[in-house]
Amino acid sequence: MTRISPGAPGRWRIIPAFPAYEINRKGEVWRRTRSRTRRGGYLLRGQTLNGKRCFTLVAIDGKKAIRRAEALINQAFFAAPDDRYDSRDGDLKWCPRCKYRKPLSEFGGHRLSRRGVYCKECAREYGRLKWRREPAAERLLKTARFNAKKLGIPFDLSLADIVIPERCPVLGIEIKTDFLDKRASPSVDRIRPELGYVRGNVVIVSWRANSLKGDATIEELTKISRFYSSLTQEERDA
Ligand SMILES: [Zn+2]
Repeated sequence: MTRISPGAPGRWRIIPAFPAYEINRKGEVWRRTRSRTRRGGYLLRGQTLNGKRCFTLVAIDGKKAIRRAEALINQAFFAAPDDRYDSRDGDLKWCPRCKYRKPLSEFGGHRLSRRGVYCKECAREYGRLKWRREPAAERLLKTARFNAKKLGIPFDLSLADIVIPERCPVLGIEIKTDFLDKRASPSVDRIRPELGYVRGNVVIVSWRANSLKGDATIEELTKISRFYSSLTQEERDA
């Protein structure tokens, strides 16, 4: 048994029907073993049957199977398009996005309902991409609606109420709607937080201004401003 470490990601792939094994394009099969500290495992020796290189693999259900190396490479690297018509393979299901067969538990959805089409990993990634493509005003509106529900406060905004200014009306910094720079991103501020996300009680400011304000009342903000102004005033006078 040779101890080697699988190479860079992409060079070794998990064999979908035999998730404990990885294969590379050369047809070497790696048996992964659990290791708390580092990735462990060993190369399978395989055998030659009818002139073809074969491996004996153990499936998730514990059953042994002999498979040709060529077929395993095809499965792991080029999932056959025909697989999609056979999407449930025992407890495995084929994900059309990452093209892997995965256990049913890797698919979202309620246990009594139909499971998701994409595996959890792909569904999460898909959601993230979808959210990023969402127009800025829609994002703000949805976030506000979500926050209102979470905090149990009123909400009656519509898209027309979300007008994103070019500059933050508080700090004067440029507002960027790509959300790459958190501080410069637009955010919905409740003028009087307890009144909720209600028409007339919201203003779009930079995330930075909103986070500085927090849940402070206007009286508190005035006090903070007065206090620190007076301190610097004393310094100047001293
Ligand atoms: Zn997937």
